[in-house]
Amino acid sequence: MSDYPERVLLAAEAIDRLLTVDLTGRGLINILYAAARRKQGDRPLCLLAADRLLDVVKPTDAVVIATGLPIRGWFSPAIAETDGPAGAATLARAVYAGLGAVPEIVCEEAMVPLLRAACRAAGLVVTTHAEWQAGLASPHAVPGRDIPPAIIRGFPTDLGEAQREARRLLEELRPAALISVERQGANERGVYHYGKGEANVTSAMAKIDVLFEEGQRAGVSTIAVGDGGNELGMGLIREEIRDALPFGARCICPCGGGIVPAFAADVVVAATTCNWGVWGIEACLALLTNRREVLHTPESERNVLRACASAGATDGITGFVEPGIDGISGRVCTYVVEMLEYMVNAAWTPPALVHKDTPRRWQRTTV
Ligand SMILES: [Zn+2]
Repeated sequence: MSDYPERVLLAAEAIDRLLTVDLTGRGLINILYAAARRKQGDRPLCLLAADRLLDVVKPTDAVVIATGLPIRGWFSPAIAETDGPAGAATLARAVYAGLGAVPEIVCEEAMVPLLRAACRAAGLVVTTHAEWQAGLASPHAVPGRDIPPAIIRGFPTDLGEAQREARRLLEELRPAALISVERQGANERGVYHYGKGEANVTSAMAKIDVLFEEGQRAGVSTIAVGDGGNELGMGLIREEIRDALPFGARCICPCGGGIVPAFAADVVVAATTCNWGVWGIEACLALLTNRREVLHTPESERNVLRACASAGATDGITGFVEPGIDGISGRVCTYVVEMLEYMVNAAWTPPALVHKDTPRRWQRTTV
């Protein structure tokens, strides 16, 4: 990671702290964060991910964001949770605003309408790869008349088709980075798990794991955001999850292999909810690029969560179709975005205790 001024490092530490408060008493984040931090040189994790993106992504590059997770796959492959899709949408916005890159979202086919709604609510123009390419090549294109794009596609659930699609996508997009936001990852026996050790319906899951495996083999940077230890990419802290989490080494499904995904991402961000981890990456990108608008606003967060609920996404903990994240209300979530906004601004312009024009008798005395 590059050397950064102390004000950036202090802000990055504060951002990680805010986004790893165990607000619902789940008891996991302290373990995951400490392990991910130890494994990655004891540096602030959101900053690490933002730094990697700035290193490898050039303007007009494609950045793949994987999300969507059928959380009630036995009932319907279309039921998603707000954690993941909402974060993918605001991250897609930041990838365009902060890096000038083209966000390419992959998810289950049944989740595409939800991601379209989330991306539109985040302010992006939903398009297709072909339409985007044709627009770029159009003789009528006017430079500077920006179109912030979001390209969303379904990914196969069949393993063989997924392997072919992974190779095709890597060839067609030549992505600069692959980012996973709240996707369960298959363990070494090919089984996907919930955090409490139950198996998910393997046939309902898009096999996006193979896209990340192929991409990593081809030298593409991989970043994973997780909040439970069962997410794609969390294999980076395999031993720690196996040792410390109740279902790390042994799940409660017949596979018996534990919840740790086989795939280890290059950079792992652990946060209270995956969306929160994404916001931290956005905030650090805003810090590093000196551009406030890279981090989405509290109003935008409210809009995205409402759009997700309107498109049928559920809160992953309550199970209700409502605009909260993992049992944390949408109202509290917008406050967290507001605090991030404050932290980014404060890192640039530290709040002054004493203004030089303040009358002497009103000046605060400091010891
Ligand atoms: Zn199992």
